[in-house]
Amino acid sequence: MTADAQLWFDPTGIFWGGAWHPVTGGDTLPVLDPSTGVEFARIGRATTMDIDAAVMAAESALSGDWGRLSPTERGRLLMKLRELVLERAEDLARLECLDVGKPISQCRADVTALARYLEFYAGAADKLHGDTIPYQAGHTVLTIREPHGVTGHIVPWNYPMQIVGRSVGAALAAGNACVLKPAEDASLSSLALATLVSEAGFPAGAFNVVTGFGSEVGAALSGHPGVHHVSFTGSVDVGVMIQTAAARNVVPVTLELGGKSPHIVFDDVDLDAALPTLVGACMQAAGQTCSAASRVLIQRGVYERVIAAMAGVYRGLAVGPAMADARIGPLINAKQKQRVEAMLARGADLAIAAQGRVAPDAPAGGYYVAPTLFRDVPPDHVLAQQEIFGPVQVAIPFSDEAEAIAIANGTDYGLVAGVWTQDGARQFRMAHALRAGQVFVNNYGAGGGIELPFGGSGKSGHGREKGFEALYGFTRLKTITLRHG
Ligand code: NAD
Repeated sequence: MTADAQLWFDPTGIFWGGAWHPVTGGDTLPVLDPSTGVEFARIGRATTMDIDAAVMAAESALSGDWGRLSPTERGRLLMKLRELVLERAEDLARLECLDVGKPISQCRADVTALARYLEFYAGAADKLHGDTIPYQAGHTVLTIREPHGVTGHIVPWNYPMQIVGRSVGAALAAGNACVLKPAEDASLSSLALATLVSEAGFPAGAFNVVTGFGSEVGAALSGHPGVHHVSFTGSVDVGVMIQTAAARNVVPVTLELGGKSPHIVFDDVDLDAALPTLVGACMQAAGQTCSAASRVLIQRGVYERVIAAMAGVYRGLAVGPAMADARIGPLINAKQKQRVEAMLARGADLAIAAQGRVAPDAPAGGYYVAPTLFRDVPPDHVLAQQEIFGPVQVAIPFSDEAEAIAIANGTDYGLVAGVWTQDGARQFRMAHALRAGQVFVNNYGAGGGIELPFGGSGKSGHGREKGFEALYGFTRLKTITLRHG
């Protein structure tokens, strides 16, 4: 462990039933700092037996102290957890910065978001209610919302704290008991959160964390017969595996699988307002963001002006070490760097409008990739169709609204879309026509807005995270029909 961050727990342990345990078999996995490529800690490589233990602990919690709490009491515990997160905010941010390689200011923002998710769902816990439904004379019909039971949460490495906050926060508020499987490349903040859950006084088994490989413990969790709902954020391929595994147990899944989000710029754009966002909406977490605005569709009348302005921003982009708070940090690991470089190589036939640079002080072992803006990209080019998950954008010209809609909707994905126009009627037409779970008009900030439902269509997944909508997803509805004459 470097002096940049301190571990106040043993990361080789896993947390279930309110206590820390060694993983079965005792294997560990290295934790590398993406800014240097140097190992600084190890986490436990759990087994399917550990998943069994965690699921059993969650079941016990539901039939025990956790299951007996009122929604208000659950909310108070979540609020206590929020306070503890804020008390340790700087420790959490530094840990995440080392583990994930995101610039320290982005990690601080992630801690703030985690605390805000906990606050939102703490307040919502006792406001989740059903309806009464008019029915035949002599009957009263009401609906109640019950927790699913044990919920499995499989999260990726790009926004661990935010995704844990929105997923586990909502599930606990609704009364579920959670088993969390963080990504093998970014488990430290989830383990750190377990120490705070313990300190907050959550009943044993309400929140459990098991670390290890996705193909081992992730697969065991998603197919476990004791799990009643699975929430997954990650790649399409793994999402399909998870849905298939959950289907064998006939349990619902929420899938958030990434995208190829279009950012559409019409001739009447207020370019001064749009410019920072046109680039920034792709560069968060070095482009490793499911909602990254990786396709910029620009109307021909303003095309050269927008490209020139974006190119100017790119030339000022320096990629560097996360703890030094470079504007853009490294990618998560060597494999991701290779993936992005392989995609860049597939763009050899394209024109590059501008590139950023890797800062001279960036350590040689880090996973750095210079940001690249391609121009005049055909909408069906592989770089305009496939998620790259790196600091790469493609600019695509279009002539009119109809063409913009056709190009924007012309991928397998449908997570987020952005539109810049000052024409009020067109704002509404575009918002309706775009295939996306969330449309931003004259702004683009998918990470923010804890209150706003978030999720995709097409291969971006289904189900909604965030906001009140997520709470509905973590409950099942029971209809009660009373005949009283
Ligand atoms: P991944 O989908 O392999 O990993 C995400 C999570 O799923 C991790 O916790 C992992 O351990 C787990 N997992 C892996 N295999 C599993 C299995 N068979 N069963 C159950 N769980 C399993 O993502 P990755 O390989 O780390 O990244 C690959 C690509 O995924 C990226 O290039 C990007 O396109 C996409 N991705 C999307 C998001 C997003 O926010 N939507 C996040 C990360 C990655």
